[in-house]
Amino acid sequence: MSLTIYLNGQFVKEEEAKISVFDHGLLYGDGIFEGIRAYHNRVFKLDEHIDRLYENANSIMLDLWLSKDEMKEVILETLRKNNLRDAYIRLVVTRGYGDLGLDPAKCPKATIFCIAAKIQLYPQELYDNGLVVNTVATRRNTNESTNPRFKSLNYLNNIMAKIESKLTGTIEAIMLNNEGYVAEATGDNIFIIKKGQLITPPTYAGVLEGVTRNAVMELAAKRGLEVKETLFSRHDIYSAEECFLTGTAAEVISVIKVDGRVIGSGKPGEMTKSLTADFRELTKVDGPLIFKD
Ligand code: PMP
Repeated sequence: MSLTIYLNGQFVKEEEAKISVFDHGLLYGDGIFEGIRAYHNRVFKLDEHIDRLYENANSIMLDLWLSKDEMKEVILETLRKNNLRDAYIRLVVTRGYGDLGLDPAKCPKATIFCIAAKIQLYPQELYDNGLVVNTVATRRNTNESTNPRFKSLNYLNNIMAKIESKLTGTIEAIMLNNEGYVAEATGDNIFIIKKGQLITPPTYAGVLEGVTRNAVMELAAKRGLEVKETLFSRHDIYSAEECFLTGTAAEVISVIKVDGRVIGSGKPGEMTKSLTADFRELTKVDGPLIFKD
């Protein structure tokens, strides 16, 4: 069945949802996006995603012509039009239609579109048994280049890492920053558990401030775990008791082997399982309702 897509103020059928080849999102990766989830008739952490989008837009000097409330309504209405209560939502804002030059001033109006569909990033078997990953040579962008805190449309840095990881026989990569500290996976944040502490790299290490990351940190604190944002190296992962990734699409997924080193027991750890369960519970109650009935 054909999806209904929001595009620049209108809802159109998927076949008619087209943008120009002169759009700077396509020509230069000039734009930003959000990946958002709906669970149990609610849009999970909607305010957090919208805040991140508007902060990023402000940073890259992109003028959003919808208010935050209007943008939230676009998401809710896209879900309603597609009769979706559980979905993955992709909200994309590009610099818009321009000429062949780089100058964003030549793009009078941002392009905004929203897609709501189903997603299954990893098969259930990987959630049950854990992921095997490798670190790769491609380093995460530095904060002074394309800041990893922007959820920018230019994902080539991450895609290069993904290609490398596939060449080494794994489906996900851990990226280091230019100093050699652990940054994040290609589309997910990374956590380790060591001596009762939950540790994740600070945002200045060159990572996206993930909405799932922040939610999991809060859940861990509620469980009485000490939560630390600290730089760490590959060695710290190898000697961790547990390791997992977080992201809107991946949710919480255990990592059981990194660069050939078995992490902990080589099976998803108990704390990872508990945090996954807490996360699932949170998705039942967080965020605005889609359908009021
Ligand atoms: N890091 C990167 C590079 C990402 O693309 C994402 C989103 N897929 C994340 C981390 C996780 O962020 P969030 O929890 O907000 O989805």
